[in-house]
Amino acid sequence: MSPTRSTTQPFVRPDIAALAGYVPGEQPQGGKWIKLNTNENPYAPSPAVARALAATAAGRTLAKYPDPLATVFRLRAAEVLGVDPDWILCGNGSDDLLTILVRTFVGAGECLRMPYPSYILYRTLAGIQAAVCDEFHYERDWSLADGFAAPRTASGADVKLAIIANPNSPSGTLLSPPRIRELADRLPCALVVDEAYGDFSDTNCLDLVKENERVIVTRSFSKSYALAGLRFGFAVAQPHVVEQLLKVKDSYNCDALSIAAATAAIDDQAWLADNRAKIVATRQRLTDAMRGLGYDALDSQANFVWCTHPERPHKPVYEALKKQGILIRFMNYLGWGDGLRITVGTDDEIDAFLSVMKTI
Ligand SMILES: *Cc1c(COP(=O)(O)O)cnc(C)c1O
Repeated sequence: MSPTRSTTQPFVRPDIAALAGYVPGEQPQGGKWIKLNTNENPYAPSPAVARALAATAAGRTLAKYPDPLATVFRLRAAEVLGVDPDWILCGNGSDDLLTILVRTFVGAGECLRMPYPSYILYRTLAGIQAAVCDEFHYERDWSLADGFAAPRTASGADVKLAIIANPNSPSGTLLSPPRIRELADRLPCALVVDEAYGDFSDTNCLDLVKENERVIVTRSFSKSYALAGLRFGFAVAQPHVVEQLLKVKDSYNCDALSIAAATAAIDDQAWLADNRAKIVATRQRLTDAMRGLGYDALDSQANFVWCTHPERPHKPVYEALKKQGILIRFMNYLGWGDGLRITVGTDDEIDAFLSVMKTI
């Protein structure tokens, strides 16, 4: 520990003081940005959401504590997903669920395993637990080798939880459910399949939860339901697993407004299907256009496209776009390489983006 740190942070756990901390993507407040950097949905949520919010805000509901289990949501989601309500755990965004999961399964000195490059937050969650974070590199074609399921790290720490974002960010690639099943069967611990982008992909791992108690799926309302500003997500796990997770969550981790809004949102599956179709169509257009500009654009199963250029440096492209009021994500993964992750916006937003790209 450096002398500066020990004098300025005397009351903080040394490992927390040393932790880099997760840095979310840029969220400029105000100004006229075209935001293609943090995978938000470019469309307004289902109109049923505003009605549910207004109804909840009007009465005395907000004067009382919310339902700790978000029962109305669980009942409706259970019907949509084809599981019983006690298979569902609600959270304040799926980040909250990931926190609950890591706290439940991984103790100090134990190991959380994740692929690399992937969602950087996992690393921070391991750090908060004083756990070992084992980042297992994807192959160059974004497949995941069997070594991912090894029971211990090279240094001898026991793997207590594995998390795979599927579809992955930043690549937008998907491991097939049979492949996820193989990895789950080999791993010595629970496997969280983070399906924050699952509504945009061709398949998902919900059925694996039913056949294997060690598979847990998490979903987010931030992307496919256009509710990033609301904070709601849920996990699907077998009931005896949910029972343990409930002990770790905050008593009132979801507020009355978000429970009402998320219930209205999941109730409107027609909105979801329509939105998904629009995103998928624009995604293809964006992918083709980037290839036309000489980029390697990966086929995406999510609402963003990962692009690398064989010769041209990536960072100046991000910077030039920013000067024109367009935010995309420049990602630099140590030991892997860098690239540009572009969120699928509206057709107009993607047209504006592409017209600037053509001048760079
Ligand atoms: C966006 C994202 C999340 C977080 O979702 P919230 O519900 O907004 O907390 C989780 N995992 C991945 C891979 C994401 O991209």
